[in-house]
Amino acid sequence: MPKQLGIDLGTANVLVYVRGRGIVINEPSVVAISAKTGKVKAVGLEARNMLGREPQETIEVVRPMREGVIADYVVTQEMLKYFINKASGRVSVVRPEVMICVPAGVTGVERRAVRDAALHAGARRAYLISEPLAAAIGARVPVSDPSGNMIIDIGGGTTEVAVISLNGLVVWRSIRVGGNKLDEAIASYVKRVHKLRIGERTAEEVKIAIGSAMSVTEDIRMEIRGRDEVAGLPRTISVSANEISEALTEPLQQIIEAVRSVLDRTPPELSSDVIDKGMILTGGGAMLRYLPELLMDVTGVPCYVADDPLSCVAIGTGLALEHIEVLRDSLDEM
Ligand code: ADP
Ligand code: MG
Repeated sequence: MPKQLGIDLGTANVLVYVRGRGIVINEPSVVAISAKTGKVKAVGLEARNMLGREPQETIEVVRPMREGVIADYVVTQEMLKYFINKASGRVSVVRPEVMICVPAGVTGVERRAVRDAALHAGARRAYLISEPLAAAIGARVPVSDPSGNMIIDIGGGTTEVAVISLNGLVVWRSIRVGGNKLDEAIASYVKRVHKLRIGERTAEEVKIAIGSAMSVTEDIRMEIRGRDEVAGLPRTISVSANEISEALTEPLQQIIEAVRSVLDRTPPELSSDVIDKGMILTGGGAMLRYLPELLMDVTGVPCYVADDPLSCVAIGTGLALEHIEVLRDSLDEM
């Protein structure tokens, strides 16, 4: 039997699930390319460590996936090839079958680009599954029941909100707001209020360390280093968790709007299921402190974070391959 790989081709991270072994690859979706020859120099973790530190004449470090879709086709293909080879083992002669997730909102052209990239990267057969469905399967939500299940997946580039019943998306909304927009909001707040320029990695570190979706009563602070806007010199400042939660207001509001718009359009029978069972949060963004509380506050619907939210989509793609017969109607086979 050919090897079966489930791939979560995310904007921020690529995870590969191998049937029978679980998640074997979990690396940032970053590629370092030689500026002179265009050849790939490093992929994943190794490439990410060069980000923002590269000599621009010789090395270009890129994130080939942007806002959930392929921004740079050739580089995405190289990245997939690298991860597929790494997960299949060099000695493998039989090309693997792969299941890759794509955001619910992508166009036919974008779906084809993902499929072609997988086939060119060495897959024997490539199936596509919509990301909210994969996230729900990975979160062990009973998606095949005739009952409404609501999932909110917050990744690096996109947030996908969907109500799923009978293995299909009944109502969904996909927005190009995710963890990256939260990082940008932090960087622009720090620049505006503290006149300090910080890089995207620093902004993300601040978000993960002290970020919060709602204001907190404790005085939690963090020191951050950046470059003074005026003097141009390095400077250290201290920011509070409440400042960061203020900085995150706008992108969080957009996520709330997406959740509201799905709830608004959900048929009554399913919406009563959702009220009973609550909404399930997946993706790295689900780990932002007090986000479930905020969503529950504004919608009145209970909200829970899935176990291991960063792995749900990858596990879901892998499980979907194992249950391909049941899901046949919900997948794109190519
Ligand atoms: P993608 O599917 O787009 O690759 P992931 O689901 O892997 O994205 O999530 C990556 C995002 O999650 C990044 O924006 C990252 O900053 C964010 N993230 C990771 N851990 C946390 C955390 N503890 N709190 C808030 N955001 C987090
Ligand atoms: Mg994702």
